[in-house]
Amino acid sequence: MLDEGRSDAEILDFMEQSHYVSKEKALLGIDIAKRERDLLRDIHYEGGYSLYIGIPFCPTTCLYCSFTSYPIAAFRRQVDAYVDAVIKEMDYVAENFRDKVLDTVYIGGGTPTTLEPEQLDRLITALKSKFDFSTVKEFTVEAGRADSITREKLEVLYRHQVSRISVNPQTMKQETLDIIGRKASVEQVLTAYQLAREVGFDNINMDLILGLPGELEADVQRTIEKIVELAPDSLTVHSLAIKRASRLNQWIQENGVSMLHNTDETMKIAAAGAEKLGMKPYYLYRQKNMSGNFENTGYARPGKYGLYNILIMEEKQTIVALGAGSITKRVFPDGRIERCDNVKDVGLYIEKIDEMIERKKELFAE
Ligand code: SF4
Repeated sequence: MLDEGRSDAEILDFMEQSHYVSKEKALLGIDIAKRERDLLRDIHYEGGYSLYIGIPFCPTTCLYCSFTSYPIAAFRRQVDAYVDAVIKEMDYVAENFRDKVLDTVYIGGGTPTTLEPEQLDRLITALKSKFDFSTVKEFTVEAGRADSITREKLEVLYRHQVSRISVNPQTMKQETLDIIGRKASVEQVLTAYQLAREVGFDNINMDLILGLPGELEADVQRTIEKIVELAPDSLTVHSLAIKRASRLNQWIQENGVSMLHNTDETMKIAAAGAEKLGMKPYYLYRQKNMSGNFENTGYARPGKYGLYNILIMEEKQTIVALGAGSITKRVFPDGRIERCDNVKDVGLYIEKIDEMIERKKELFAE
């Protein structure tokens, strides 16, 4: 509606009357949409693309996880072959997207920093030797789980000029971390964050989840106070989503849904913390089955916005995705979207890498 030249008042009226959105949330939406439009001004929609690489291993599996993620300890012997397969997929993309502009690169998962430093180095060295990074506006690597982070790994990322990393506490309450099986302690989060600053990272995101089992407003308040002390560059505030594929469903059956508590108040506590850190909201999305029926909001300091995060939600740019369980999305000039996915199973992905490449060839055939 902004692009159509509609006024804020018209948009507000439409959101309130047709979608029953509260005034507060509609205004937040308008504010974010304007910021997004500004941030995406230089993105190459037609002649460009973004690249995603999925590393589907984690130290342990979190209770609420619905991503493609396998415990690294059981897969150590397959990781080298996995990196080889990703590099093979990379070869196809580098060759076939040579005349396109690469805007953003995101290595996620899973937890990419479960790779050993040499494996991380091999993966990123290949990536940087095959693609033209002179146009890349943002290069993110998720170092999400603090129990996977070491100085050596951070140094590899920094040496390869990774511009943005994520160190994700989710909560600063140790008891909750124990319940959700996220074996990264609060202490480890603090150490990893400090290490990342020491190594030189100046764009660190932190993810939080509101509505985690047993947490009340006072817990969120304490978490936010600790986050404000640390002063990351961006903060992504999620509302707990109860996914069918997660172990959380089972947990709810055993412990009761009344243990999950997310309110307008907790959302406001998080928003106030972000504001204290000089951050502005810059992307927002909703998922099905979110605790409290709220939304996820990304906040960042000016200049530290995560472009890839907006692109993946807005679905206006082609995103080529490599790795097990990843989904490639081709956006056509008329806005039509077609997708192809890679198999989730690590062994199958390695074995069938040529078929994964074939799927991409079909998707991108003229
Ligand atoms: S760190 Fe993320 S991807 Fe890994 S198990 Fe936890 S929620 Fe899943």
